[in-house]
Amino acid sequence: MLIKLTGGQVYDPASGIDGQVQDIYIQDGRIVDKSNGDFQVDKEYDLQGKVVMSGAIDMHTHIGGGKGNIARTLLPEDHRQDPVSRSDITRSGCGHAMPSTFVTGYRYAEMGYTAGFEPAVLPINARQAHMEMGDIPILDKGGYVMLGSDDYLLRMLTAKKDQKAINDYVAWTMNAAKAIGVKVVNPGGINAFKFNQRKLDLDEQNAHYGVTPRDILEVLATAVKELGVKHPLHVHGCNLGVPGNVQTTLDTIQGIGGLPMHLTHIQFHSYGTEGDMKFSSGAAQIAEAVNNNKNITIDVGQVLFGQTVTASGDSMRQHYNHKFASPNKWVVMDIECDAGCGVVPFKYKDQNFVNALQWAIGLETFLLVNDPWRIFLTTDHPNGAPFTSYPHLIRLLMDRSFRNEVLATIHPEAQKMTTLASITREYTLQEIAIMTRAGAAKLIGLKDRGGLSAGNWADITVYTDNTNRQTMFEKPDYVFKDGELVVVDGKVVHTKWGTTHVVQPDFDPSVETGLKDYFDRYLTMKLGNFKISDDEITEDGRGSITVHPLHI
Ligand SMILES: [Zn+2]
Repeated sequence: MLIKLTGGQVYDPASGIDGQVQDIYIQDGRIVDKSNGDFQVDKEYDLQGKVVMSGAIDMHTHIGGGKGNIARTLLPEDHRQDPVSRSDITRSGCGHAMPSTFVTGYRYAEMGYTAGFEPAVLPINARQAHMEMGDIPILDKGGYVMLGSDDYLLRMLTAKKDQKAINDYVAWTMNAAKAIGVKVVNPGGINAFKFNQRKLDLDEQNAHYGVTPRDILEVLATAVKELGVKHPLHVHGCNLGVPGNVQTTLDTIQGIGGLPMHLTHIQFHSYGTEGDMKFSSGAAQIAEAVNNNKNITIDVGQVLFGQTVTASGDSMRQHYNHKFASPNKWVVMDIECDAGCGVVPFKYKDQNFVNALQWAIGLETFLLVNDPWRIFLTTDHPNGAPFTSYPHLIRLLMDRSFRNEVLATIHPEAQKMTTLASITREYTLQEIAIMTRAGAAKLIGLKDRGGLSAGNWADITVYTDNTNRQTMFEKPDYVFKDGELVVVDGKVVHTKWGTTHVVQPDFDPSVETGLKDYFDRYLTMKLGNFKISDDEITEDGRGSITVHPLHI
């Protein structure tokens, strides 16, 4: 079957196409070149006046892993808010801040997204994370495996193991957990919390291991680079949410010595201590550092107002944040020898000075970082806001007068503490396509995704152009996933299963000798059971595994 998309305005930054009118052909799930020769079109869509982009990719969204189920259990009211009664093709689902797996897939697809990446896959819990993501329809998915507070790595550092040994351990863990990247959360801090430390700065030693966050970042960023993993070390830095943490973040950028590094939800790490409230924006300093350091990429973790739930591996910071829980209930837990987890419901209020300034800091960051290939559109779902608020966020970035209207309504002291009103930049459609498509695919190292040239998988979203960008991005006319039409007029009409993206870096098999002894002595799981096999992900016909190339 040959499908033709006729006459749409195409935004495909991966090929340098910026709004030109082009036809696109789809065959066997992929985009094909039909510029020459005779051929018969089986199905044609007239897209004159429509905007065509590839399917959007969320490179940081918490959609799999135990913390989601804790959040759902903790907040039954969240699952009464949005009862879904839809066409008979879709199974029912519910939830707003932490929706069910099915609603997650449907709502993402209905906004034109075709992939989402879970950034905090605990190795010991990777099976559950993949099973949960395996229950999300339509989307492609993948995970970044969390290291850095695990006792095994910290023991290796204390024992002065060489970089080669650490590379083997990182590669072994990525294979076992079926990951496409490596994430570190509050490097070493989650472990230090277990030894009663309540904060850990970049150069502060873990009381038990004597290791600093700086040591951990350096060996992990080096391992990721030397193993040829395209996605740079994904870093949730020290001191999340702490006033004055802008200096820690700047030191982290300088300290990595030019190695590729991705700093996630940087909004939560961009706070100064100026003003009467001793809380101010560090966004300008952060943006300047990002502009000057080409090895650094960031996503924002934008705060938007309303009820959500925060869910993080950073048990140290979530323990501190529990006093702000709204409604007042929370969970902070230890997870074996791997890490921790904290779930704290939160309501961001526009009349709260801190929340209002957080909102402004995120937007300042978006607007002051020059290169859209190195900044990504996230709310750190659900931590800053649920992912369903993305169309609203896109409007804030693309429409200065709308942005200033909202700015004029937030806490007056926060208005005084932000430069937002003076920033004239408005994102273009091409820049949105870079942040949410081409740039994200490049950052993660996805082959054949995030672009519309021949050979790519046909993940395609079609919008009706509208000066109200929220309306435009809320309701695509069509979404194709792997060439199949899944959404029409903003509603799911057909469902399918996406693939799971992984990399498989090489390691010396002798790495298992030390690991087996460690598993037998300390963990509840045997080493053999820890490793996830391919068929656990592909069983029931629910998708496939796509192995991406290494860059050595
Ligand atoms: Zn996150």
